[in-house]
Amino acid sequence: MREEKALFIIFGGTGDLAQRKLYPALFNLYRRGHIQKSFAVIGTARRPWTDEHYREVVADSIRGSVDADFYTEAMVENFADHFYYQSHNVNDTEHYMILKKLAQQLDDEYEIGGNRVFYLAMSPRFFGTIAEHLKTQKLVTDHGYNRVVVEKPFGRDLATATELNQSIEKYFPADSIFRIDHYLGKVMIQNITAIRFGNSIFRNLWNNRYIDNIQITLSESLGVEERACYYETAGALRDMVQNHILQIVSLLTMNAPVSFNDQDLRQEKISALKSLKVYTPDEVAHNFVRGQYGPGEGVHAYRDEDNIADDSAIETFVAGKLEVENMNFAGVPVYIRTGKRLATKATRIDVIFKKMPTNIFPGVALTNNVLSIDVDPNEEITLYINDKDYDTGFKMKQLPLAYRNQNRDCPEAYEKLLHDLLRGDATNFTHWEEVKYSWQFVDAIRSAWDMETPAFPNYESGSMGPQAADELLARDGKQWFFDPTKTN
Ligand code: NAD
Repeated sequence: MREEKALFIIFGGTGDLAQRKLYPALFNLYRRGHIQKSFAVIGTARRPWTDEHYREVVADSIRGSVDADFYTEAMVENFADHFYYQSHNVNDTEHYMILKKLAQQLDDEYEIGGNRVFYLAMSPRFFGTIAEHLKTQKLVTDHGYNRVVVEKPFGRDLATATELNQSIEKYFPADSIFRIDHYLGKVMIQNITAIRFGNSIFRNLWNNRYIDNIQITLSESLGVEERACYYETAGALRDMVQNHILQIVSLLTMNAPVSFNDQDLRQEKISALKSLKVYTPDEVAHNFVRGQYGPGEGVHAYRDEDNIADDSAIETFVAGKLEVENMNFAGVPVYIRTGKRLATKATRIDVIFKKMPTNIFPGVALTNNVLSIDVDPNEEITLYINDKDYDTGFKMKQLPLAYRNQNRDCPEAYEKLLHDLLRGDATNFTHWEEVKYSWQFVDAIRSAWDMETPAFPNYESGSMGPQAADELLARDGKQWFFDPTKTN
């Protein structure tokens, strides 16, 4: 096992993301041996914590989220000993000088060799000032790598994203900026490339001659919960479509990369996103549906949730029909939907193949072949084929050929992404050009929607969204393949 050497400086070290995701992910890298002796973590935030308190918080975050079968208390304590806390105000230049000293000291003590990861786990409004101070106060080293990790949201439209990007790229080269979209760390999302480019049956069928339509569902059963303040400024379109859903669309519709490396793969994803048809306001009205949840069994309407305006026009649901205007996918509708307070929590992709050109079986209805990829909460691949019923005569039935990942100790998204980051592999991070084309597509929808006040609420909590989301497909003679409201 190759040991990766790095000093992590986590801005926002007391925050929710750090505690729920980053510390458990780092611990999992540690217990698997990817990081061992030569690593240290400096957590910074405004609160005046001691190292001891910080290490207790880190240890608790591991106890609270990693399966107890996978560690001993001694491992947790040894791991937490690598953590140091530095109270820090991101706008205060002097604080960076103190941070620099501590970083140098830990680099020597742990023999890290100058590799630095600056993880910006805080509001994007601070990214520019942090990047500037890291450079001007010389926290970047000249004898190792210096990588900056930024979280979503990356801007709220193309203009703000461009500004944000420039504020970081002014101080860090483009290839040292790692934009996290944690969906790209999910095993089944990574599997899309494996399925498409590792199997000749799918390679040959993956185009507009054989695929009828693609359906992507990211449904949540929870409501807005404690994210009200952020959500009121974002909505489902910015929160889920601009990043996660369009990333999935790009992986499903890109052309084959020349080789499986970050440059070639991201080049093809960029082309796929560039091929998305940007809609006019009329086309938005025709191809996109927005919704907001009303009350349901034992739950409030969105507008009655804490910290939500009584007349909020923010959408908690989006469905849409996308057109990818490239050689392979022109004419294949890509239907997407995402929402809160839906019937189930699931991330799911259904690739619907075309019907047989003719049916030689009298009196038998042949169904479409479907490749379903369950991303969350199950990790499952199912290929639906038509199969002879095991009975006398010749009836047919739909047969699901399924594989479910049962590995309890499969690395979680953040663990995989942090490992990629340490190895300098940017394949599963979002390139700026991807961000750019995604915002271009989303901005057209947002600006069309902003011209009109929607009639909200328009779907019941516990349903699969407004009826218009079903009509979007019905109009094309299709329906959602994944329907958790139906009991089979
Ligand atoms: P949070 O509010 O829990 O934490 C923010 C952190 O920033 C805290 O440690 C706080 O002390 C620190 N901070 C704020 N102002 C500061 C200042 N002036 N100087 C120094 N430190 C300061 O937020 P979070 O949920 O951890 O999210 C962090 C970032 O990650 C946000 O950009 C968020 O959008 C993104 N994100 C979070 C999640 C998640 O699951 N929490 C998921 C995806 C993206």
